[in-house]
Amino acid sequence: MKYKTIIGLEIHVELMTNTKIFCSCTNEFGGEINTHTCPVCLGLPGAMPVLNKAVLEYGIKSGIAFNSKIANNTKMDRKNYFYPDLVKGYQISQDEEPLCSGGYIEIELEDGVKTIRLNRIHIEEDTGKSIHTEEGDSLLDYNRAGVPLIEIVTEPDMNTPEEARLFLEKLKSTLEYIEVSDCKMEEGSLRCDININVMDTETGERTNITELKNLNSFRAAVKAMEYEEERHRKLLSQGENTVKETRRWDEIENKTITMREKGEAADFRYVVDGDFLPIIIEEEWIEEIKKNLPELPHDKKARLIREYNIPEYDAGVLTQSRELADFFEKTVEFSKDANQVSNWIMGDVLRRLNDAGLEIKDLKFGPKELADLIELVNEGKISNNIGKKVLRDMFETGKTPETIVKEKGLIQISDAGELEEVINKVLLENQQSIVDYRSGKDRALGFLVGQVMKATRGKANPQMVNKMLKEKLEEE
Ligand code: ZN
Ligand code: MN
Repeated sequence: MKYKTIIGLEIHVELMTNTKIFCSCTNEFGGEINTHTCPVCLGLPGAMPVLNKAVLEYGIKSGIAFNSKIANNTKMDRKNYFYPDLVKGYQISQDEEPLCSGGYIEIELEDGVKTIRLNRIHIEEDTGKSIHTEEGDSLLDYNRAGVPLIEIVTEPDMNTPEEARLFLEKLKSTLEYIEVSDCKMEEGSLRCDININVMDTETGERTNITELKNLNSFRAAVKAMEYEEERHRKLLSQGENTVKETRRWDEIENKTITMREKGEAADFRYVVDGDFLPIIIEEEWIEEIKKNLPELPHDKKARLIREYNIPEYDAGVLTQSRELADFFEKTVEFSKDANQVSNWIMGDVLRRLNDAGLEIKDLKFGPKELADLIELVNEGKISNNIGKKVLRDMFETGKTPETIVKEKGLIQISDAGELEEVINKVLLENQQSIVDYRSGKDRALGFLVGQVMKATRGKANPQMVNKMLKEKLEEE
């Protein structure tokens, strides 16, 4: 490959603590504008910030989950810059002594596992929000000012948009697992900035880094990276270079657009924030947090394979979210047939959810109901195909499988006498198929089974129909 793409990410994640990072205002999303505010988060003169211990705890949790080194001594710094939504004229953040250093996330590629290194994870406050009206006014909402954030910075270790997407998915699912953030991109609780450039591996020439901002979904992020990758390659192949700048993704035009040119690295004039004492983190506290950390996605995946003897691929899909994995395990508690449970969830349940754009928590039925459905199929009370139709009804109405089966009269016909009657009738009406079968055309059997199923509206026990038909066709 002549061109190599280089991608690094900076991800801001809003933590779901009860209160904000430096005051006791609620940390709830939304709310009537400027109601989640107080002198501290409004940056009024004389107001004193107090660090929320839960923010440190959530930051440490994240650091442990991502294999980072947790600092025993850290501090808060002021990052000076002007922005209307930044009331104090500086953001309280962390400069050269971040809460967590290093670390890594492993992603699974087709040819093996790739390690993406992290540079750091630090804690900081979110800014307020500017609202630009159609009349041309700019209004400010400070409900978000002081919402706790962690900023996760990677090394430039990703080489394709797909690797970046896999990284983001792993990051998101891990943060959800350890319950530090709800990671809702559409509400801005997970925001991702991308640094991307391209290198000519023969000459060593590189394009200038483009920073991509304001990406509100992983899909938009991937599209923006693909667009930039192409743009950089083209310029490089023409002997030109990119402008060092920040661009945003335009969802409608399907392209990136210049936001602003970047001059030299901005000088934020970091200074230690004198409103805070140095932060000392005892090793015992870190150990305690580590001990209470919930099971992480890759540990859960390994355990599911071991405990339930399901294929690695299934375990990977089922552990993509903690809720999905929980749903699986609870269903197995009722059903005991882990492989069937996995098949039903991976097949019809996930397909219906995807088609409807819903998540597992939106299901109208619970693990017990899915287990009951599987039981009905396993016991031969309904066929597999009828089972799929029952699931569709459960999905739409939330009724129990028993109710649906009863209401629609779907119980499988496994009564030999009743089946024989139907089979005789079908044979009588399809004499040619009997001749065909006897002259060696096996397909005729399938056709006859189909006719019996049709006559019983899918309720005949297919195994019995198969067996009984064969016996009849083979008797002279
Ligand atoms: Zn406040
Ligand atoms: Mn930041």
